Amino acid sequence: MPVQWAATTHPGIRRTSNEDSYCSRPDLGLFIVADGMGGHVAGEVASRIAVDAIEAFIGETASDDSQVTWPHPVDPLLGVDGSRLKSAFHLANRRLADEVAAAVDLRGMATTASTVLLKDERKAMLAHVGDSRIYLFRDNELERMTDDHSWVEEQMRAGLLSPLEARQHPWRNVVTRALSGGEDPEVDVKEVKLQPGDRLLLCSDGLSSVVPDDRIEEILRAQPVPTEACQALVDEANGAGGPDNVTTLILQIDAP
Ligand code: CA
Repeated sequence: MPVQWAATTHPGIRRTSNEDSYCSRPDLGLFIVADGMGGHVAGEVASRIAVDAIEAFIGETASDDSQVTWPHPVDPLLGVDGSRLKSAFHLANRRLADEVAAAVDLRGMATTASTVLLKDERKAMLAHVGDSRIYLFRDNELERMTDDHSWVEEQMRAGLLSPLEARQHPWRNVVTRALSGGEDPEVDVKEVKLQPGDRLLLCSDGLSSVVPDDRIEEILRAQPVPTEACQALVDEANGAGGPDNVTTLILQIDAP
């Protein structure tokens, strides 16, 4: 598949541990960013478990003759790939439940997950839970493809906070939906048609809660090379104080 990718992750300026995890599996067309919560160790464990569980299920269901048992049948509204992602998210959630049941010090851990599953160079299936974002950068314009499942975004949608107030709010990190080992969460699934030259950016809120969208757009315009753009975005978040772990992952769709 004609795609280039790059990723950068950094603990930020004020934290010593990094609870973000990511995965790049171009052979599966799968890319994931997950942002763990639950304090030192538990947050790292949560995001890694989720990434590994999603990656495993997508890998096991990659071929038509797969013998793997799905947690849900294929949903005609989501199609095969959308249903694969939803099932993968729910299996990840159940893995978290098993781990919490086995280790009391992991209680309260949770993670976001945002994934891109490329069908081919013309189509991608996106799925996410939480406030890690996916953006599409096309023709020099940035468009956000995901809604944050976060307290501040709900307040903004209700007209009670401005984007600037949301970025500065003490509750800006509070997520309203996550993989936490509780009931299977609702997963937002969306198909995106791709064009050559498109870039998809996946990021944790360590970027988007401190760097406004118009600044992310400027950086992507100035940095056409995915590796350099990933690093420039992380540098920008850290330059703005680096209050949180920050992960950036960019896919560049090339002409077939
Ligand atoms: Ca975070």
